[in-house]
Amino acid sequence: MAVEQKNLTELKNFACELGADSAVLLDAQIIEAKENLAALCQKPRCPNYGVAASCPPHVGGPKSLKKQLPSYTKALFFRLMAKKTDVYSAKIHDIQGQVHTIAASLENRALELGFDKARAFAGGSCKNMFCADQPDCNVTARNGACRNPDLARPSMSGYGIDVSALAKAADWPPLVVNNRAAGKEDFIPLYGLLIVG
Ligand code: SF4
Repeated sequence: MAVEQKNLTELKNFACELGADSAVLLDAQIIEAKENLAALCQKPRCPNYGVAASCPPHVGGPKSLKKQLPSYTKALFFRLMAKKTDVYSAKIHDIQGQVHTIAASLENRALELGFDKARAFAGGSCKNMFCADQPDCNVTARNGACRNPDLARPSMSGYGIDVSALAKAADWPPLVVNNRAAGKEDFIPLYGLLIVG
């Protein structure tokens, strides 16, 4: 148990070393996978729907995650605070790509540490981040495996993961952090998640 706690703490610290602004360890049982949240990918239809293997309908969705969650014990939830002006600009793909890369690196490190069921999730479409110069997603086009297995991870939205509930559990403000009144930039949190059993 002491070794597991040490490894979890190492993963939490690693998230921040990789560029996360904050990371918190939570009980995996508080994760909620909601059909109504996953349904938002389809209606109103997200432009990324169906475009990559990391998004619906190519991911298992809430039903599959609900089945798997009982075998997970801990969740490492992390956030990256991005300037609002960058989030609403072409820079968003680089920022989301950073979240995916952190999530993928955490999953790989967790596997090395012996968490053999480790799974990571991020947000946004990996097609825009890592395969923008390609005609299609290699997986959905049935050409082969993902071109970027060390970078891309499935979308939390596609699994209906309630990130607002996780942000609340982490005691983080879930929406825009308004600093304008203080004459500073507004920031928006982007989230990633690792689960281990
Ligand atoms: S091949 Fe590209 S678009 Fe498809 S899952 Fe991998 S990173 Fe995403």
